[in-house]
This record gives sequence, structure tokens and C-alpha cells, in this order.
Amino acid sequence: MSIVEMRHIYKYFGNFCANEDINFSVEEGEIHALLGENGAGKSTLMNILYGLYMHDKGTILINGEEVNMGSPSVAISKGIGMVHQHFMLIPQLTVTENIFLGMKEAGFVLHRKELQRRVEELNTKFGFNVKSDALIWQIPVGVQQKVEILKVLMRRARILILDEPSAVLTPDEVVELFDSVKALSREGYSIILITHKMSEVLNYADRVTVMRQGRVVDTVRVAETDENALARMMVGRNVDLERQITGGEFGAPLLEVSNLTVKNNKGFETVKGVSFSVREGEILGIAGVDGNGQLELGEAIVGLRRIEHGEIKLNGNVVTRSTIRHRLDEGLAHIPDDRLKKGLVLQFPIKENLIMGMQRSDKYSNGIFMKQAAIEEHAKQLVEEFDVRPADVEYLAGGLSGGNQQKVILAREVDRQPNVMLAIQPTRGLDIGATEFVRRKLVEERNKKKAVLLISTDLDEIISLSDRILVMYNGTFMGEVKYDTPLETFSLLMAGCPVKEIPESGKVV
Ligand code: ADP
Ligand code: MG
Repeated sequence: MSIVEMRHIYKYFGNFCANEDINFSVEEGEIHALLGENGAGKSTLMNILYGLYMHDKGTILINGEEVNMGSPSVAISKGIGMVHQHFMLIPQLTVTENIFLGMKEAGFVLHRKELQRRVEELNTKFGFNVKSDALIWQIPVGVQQKVEILKVLMRRARILILDEPSAVLTPDEVVELFDSVKALSREGYSIILITHKMSEVLNYADRVTVMRQGRVVDTVRVAETDENALARMMVGRNVDLERQITGGEFGAPLLEVSNLTVKNNKGFETVKGVSFSVREGEILGIAGVDGNGQLELGEAIVGLRRIEHGEIKLNGNVVTRSTIRHRLDEGLAHIPDDRLKKGLVLQFPIKENLIMGMQRSDKYSNGIFMKQAAIEEHAKQLVEEFDVRPADVEYLAGGLSGGNQQKVILAREVDRQPNVMLAIQPTRGLDIGATEFVRRKLVEERNKKKAVLLISTDLDEIISLSDRILVMYNGTFMGEVKYDTPLETFSLLMAGCPVKEIPESGKVV
């Protein structure tokens, strides 16, 4: 018998069906992933299980018994706990105080020392390493998340719902989190892991239920599926993240960087005299571990960061000291690493964001007034072509999902018909469908004989897109390689070991 069974669940928001005839069950002690793209209906389904939303049709059984999940307190009494994407802790209180906040039995009866002892007990058992007397605002996000989990465990939950738990964590914190999740499942806890990350499903889950557009596509054992099958289920068609064949011949260099030196915010040289060029019809990838100067390099090219020495040319013209505006006029387009801070004005509608930087062009302004009809028409075309959802040009950029925000930026930049496209971490945080879309557009630009400079810490991305690859380490290039260079060589270069030192066998003693 399943510990949780949701049968034929329907949930409407107005006329919109967010969950349609969902069947979903969880076994004791399993890690069950709920996989789907943004907007697939995962959080809605779990909010129903946790009693936050009332479903319109269907039944929920816990241990075989039908339950009317009217509110979270009912869910908690049935052993269900949920950790949301946004934590609900009080910063000024301690870990222990937060954990026991609102728990009746803790109110007057139990001593502070006793409460702390209970926290420590769970802490040790699951290797959480949380200091019970620390104040919330003083501890990192990864630890705060563990406090949320402890809070749920203290309420005797046996079924834990984690909503995209790794979204806010560093890679190390992610590993720690999943170690604890594994430990919990070994103790018989059931974990429902909401995610859109394939790697988490493949590495940690026992079973996976894939959702798309409000429906369940299938539930399968992780051991019996693979990345391609899951991607197909998520997106509803074959997904091709494989290497794209190169466009053909390369033309003249459109971006030339020579001897460039740039300092970081602390005043240290982080780009140390690098030279390279990107030619027509070429994607040049810059690989490297985060923090090796690649971000500053990108900013210097765009004009967001002062250049200490060296020279940058666009179309053969020197732009080393030029304004951002002038570089745009020279045909540079830019997909920034931080789309929220640098790429969009979140309070503005999609249509305004799509003409950002071109407000003064004759097309959209007569010098005094904006040409609203032209702006709208232009936006409608791009929204359609770039498949932005919702396809509503008045929608505020801040309300879009990450993938759709990135599509708006991409649409605007491609629409300017640049010669040189600089893309920095263009798919970070995006789901697989949006990732594929963005990558395909970059390849299209390359095939249109543009020069594309791709800066990414995602090695798979670099390998699958780039015609040539430079590996950056500590402000310089360790070497130039190709997509079929063995991964070990990449690892060595990314760690700062020069290729020359790699003996024939490919091993370093
Ligand atoms: P996921 O968690 O898979 O990303 P959600 O369950 O959050 O997806 O959302 C599914 C769909 O339901 C989305 O289109 C979303 O806009 C819509 N939706 C979710 N919550 C609400 C709500 N409270 N009111 C209206 N629409 C909602
Ligand atoms: Mg969600």
C-alpha cells in the first residue's frame, strides 16, 4: 500500500486547468521526483497535498485512508511536511526558536534546554550540522534550508515535500543537502523532490513522475530510464542538446581582443593580458571554473568595466574607450549573466523591454512621442517568433519565468541584427526546453555568419556549441582546445595545469 495516493486530481485557477486528472503515489522510504518544466503544475499539486490549495475534484488517501486535506494543519497531522522555495523563517530568532515556533507542545511545557537537545538529536542523526543557538540571519541559505527541514521533522512528518530545494544552493550545499535526503530515506522517510533538473533525478531519486502542461506524462523507475527519455517526456518532443555541426568556413575577425588587462571590483588584475579573436561564422567558447576572470572579461568587452591595458576592436574599429552605446552601434549584442539586474527592467512590460536601447530610433519615436503602434507590432512579432509565454506584450517582465525572461533578452538582442553576439552564462538556471531554445538561437546566429563569443562555466554547453574553445584560469588562457578534446584534459586545464605537462598517456604523476 502506498503511503500517499492522489487519485484523479483536478485543479482550476479560473478557467485555467493547472492539474488535470493527476494520479500520483508515494511509497514509504522512497525519493520520488516530480519532474517538469516551469509551469507544469508541480507546485500546485504539492500545495494540494499539503492542504494549501483545495482541489476541485479527486481524492487523496494517506495510508489507505481518505483524507480531507482542508489546511496545512490537517496535512501536518497526517505526517506531511513541506519546504517551500522561499523560506518562511524569522531572521531575528534563533534556529531552535524558529523550529518550535507555533508548536503547541513547545509553548510552556518544555524548557529551552530540552528544545535545544531535541534539535541537536535530529541534527546528529541526519548530519545536518546546524548550530541550534545561531540566529537565522547569521547563517547561510543552505543552512537555513536545513532549519526548514528540521522544523518539518520536529512536527513528526514522515513525508517531506521539497520544492526545488537546490535552486538557492551552491554546488557544495547541493551535495550536502542530498546526502541528508538520502539519510532520511534510509530511515523510512518518504521524500517528494520537486525539480526541473535532470541530474538530480538521475543521481538521487528512486522513481520519477514527469508532468507536462498540467498532466502526468508517466511515472517510471529511475533505474529503468535515461536522460533522453526523461527530456522527451518533459518537453513532449525529442530534445537535442547534442553537439551542433559547425556552420562552415570562418570569415574575417569581427571581435579582436589584444593584450587585455582588467581589474576586478577589489582592484586586483583578474584578466591578465589576454588576446583572441572571434571570426564570422564562429562560436568561440571560453570555458573555466567560475571566478577566473571570464565575467570581468565579458564586462570589459561590453563596456561595463574599465580597461587597464590592451585593445578591443569591433569590425576592425577600436572601441577600447567607447561607451556601451557606441559598441551597440558597432553591432555588439549582449546576453548578460544576470538577466534580472542587467538584462531587463522588471517593472516594465515585455514590449518596452524589447526596444530597450532603441527607444530613440526613428522606428519607435518621432523625437517627442513614442510610436506605440510600432512598438506593439514589433513586440508581437518577436514574442511569437521567440515563443515567449504568456504571449502578451503588456505582461511585466518581472512576472515571467526565467526561461521566458531569457527569451525576451535574446529576442531583443537578435533583433538588433548584431555582428558580434556575446553570451555570458546564457542558460544558467533555465529548464531544458528553454536551454535548448537559447542554444539553438546562438547556433542560428553563428550560421548567419555572426561572431559568437560564449562565456560559460557549463562545460557541456561549451563543448556542444563551440567551434573553438579557450580555457581560462586565473586571468589567462591555459590553452586552446576543440570539442573532442578528452575531458581529462579539460579538467587539467581548468585546474591550471598546462597541457604541455600532460604526458602521452594523459596522466599526471
Ligand atoms: P510548476 O511548479 O511546475 O512550475 P505551478 O504549479 O507553480 O508550476 O504552476 C502551474 C500553472 O498554474 C502555471 O501556469 C501558473 O501560472 C498557474 N498558477 C499557479 N498558481 C496559481 C495561482 N495561485 N493563481 C493562478 N494561477 C496559478
Ligand atoms: Mg514550482
